Amino acid sequence: MANPWECANAKEWDSMTAKEWFDKICWCQSTKNTAAILTRTIYAVEPEDVSFLYFLWYLKVGHGFLRVMQTEDGAQERKFEGGSQQICEKIADLIGKEKVVCNSPVIKLEQSEDGVIVRTSDGSTYQAKHVISALAPTLLGRIAFSPPLPPLKTQLIQRFPMGSVIKAILFYENSYWSENGYNGTVGSDVILPSACDDTKPDGSYPAIVAFINGKHAREMTQLTKDERKRILCEFFAEIFESDEALRPVNYVEKNWLTEEFSGGCYVGVTPPGVLTQFGPVLREPYGRIYFAGTETATEWTGYMEGGVQAGERAAREVLHAVGKISKDEIWQDEPVSPDLPVMPLITTKWEKVLPSVPAFINFTIFSAILCAGAIVVVKKPSLFDAIKTSLTNIATLQL
Ligand SMILES: Cc1cc2nc3c(=O)[nH]c(=O)nc-3n(C[C@H](O)[C@H](O)[C@H](O)COP(=O)(O)OP(=O)(O)OC[C@H]3O[C@@H](n4cnc5c(N)ncnc54)[C@H](O)[C@@H]3O)c2cc1C
Repeated sequence: MANPWECANAKEWDSMTAKEWFDKICWCQSTKNTAAILTRTIYAVEPEDVSFLYFLWYLKVGHGFLRVMQTEDGAQERKFEGGSQQICEKIADLIGKEKVVCNSPVIKLEQSEDGVIVRTSDGSTYQAKHVISALAPTLLGRIAFSPPLPPLKTQLIQRFPMGSVIKAILFYENSYWSENGYNGTVGSDVILPSACDDTKPDGSYPAIVAFINGKHAREMTQLTKDERKRILCEFFAEIFESDEALRPVNYVEKNWLTEEFSGGCYVGVTPPGVLTQFGPVLREPYGRIYFAGTETATEWTGYMEGGVQAGERAAREVLHAVGKISKDEIWQDEPVSPDLPVMPLITTKWEKVLPSVPAFINFTIFSAILCAGAIVVVKKPSLFDAIKTSLTNIATLQL
């Protein structure tokens, strides 16, 4: 599903927030709280911030809720030994470091029939035949376009806010949580939605990584780094039942809300009404300018995988523009990785057959009516005849 705005229920789902949907179908407060924790964990926003259509679409392109949430065979399974920054460094090595310009933000794109002039904040200019922008949509608002972006694109980029995350890592002398029988994974509706063990695979550098997301990030960004550290230490001391949590040997954090060149993370998330009204211009090229970035992906949007898929698609759009490939070669499926094949998700029998509460209630009411009917037929045939006659009379009258 590349275009969620084309699905049958698009209008209905895009006119409500995820919270409105949770309120409609969840029967108890604890389920609503769990849904809010999951929204903060996955999208880094509050359930009232995000369109229900976007909420569903994001799970769909992440191959379902379980795949997105799970560690084993899920989105959380793998880490890069040495960190993911190596990807950029190795690509820079491949194309030649002298060709990669860093610390020089683009401030203006001037487009003509022959090409695009790229102007950067340090006064440099670059001439290009085509440009691929891989910025989050909202950051495009900081770049001047000449001629200006088309009206719907201009409006779209004003409606695509980034999520709110402060990521913190607390390093300890020992992994005291495992000594106390805990695996380090935390899901909570106070302070942070999720945390987990971040010790290196060889057991060195025992650490807990904490993601402070959504409203908690918006509250905690008002505090100082030391205050955040103290709150987290006290929180983990309570959760893991150990005063050792109060004595980290190191504390590092990244407040993504203060990051000028992302404006937040993990991804831009649309409120109601945006996808259905502005979605069609999300990936639409503007003359010689093409749009990539994980928000434009049709698989794993919000993840690095989505960023790569979108980048490759935009590169093929340029190849098509210069006549090197045909139009139907632009969109290609990612080949399955031979090193890392996708494994089927294992679900229990109960997870497969248990109905939702409304389905269970409907089933119970329907069954009760059927049973009552059967009892009437067997035990009181005269009453059954009377009901049948009345129904026939009503039907005749209506005709
Ligand atoms: C804390 C955190 C944890 C995450 N964890 C994971 C994870 O575990 N797995 C996963 O797959 N994804 C994860 N993500 C999401 C992942 O980082 C993004 O999906 C991915 O980086 C998106 O790639 P992109 O190329 O679309 O955008 P970006 O990586 O944001 O790249 C855009 C680039 O454009 C630059 N830029 C901005 N403005 C300008 C300008 N005016 N001129 C020039 N350059 C500019 C930015 O500096 C940036 O380098 C995480 C993100 C965060 C913040």
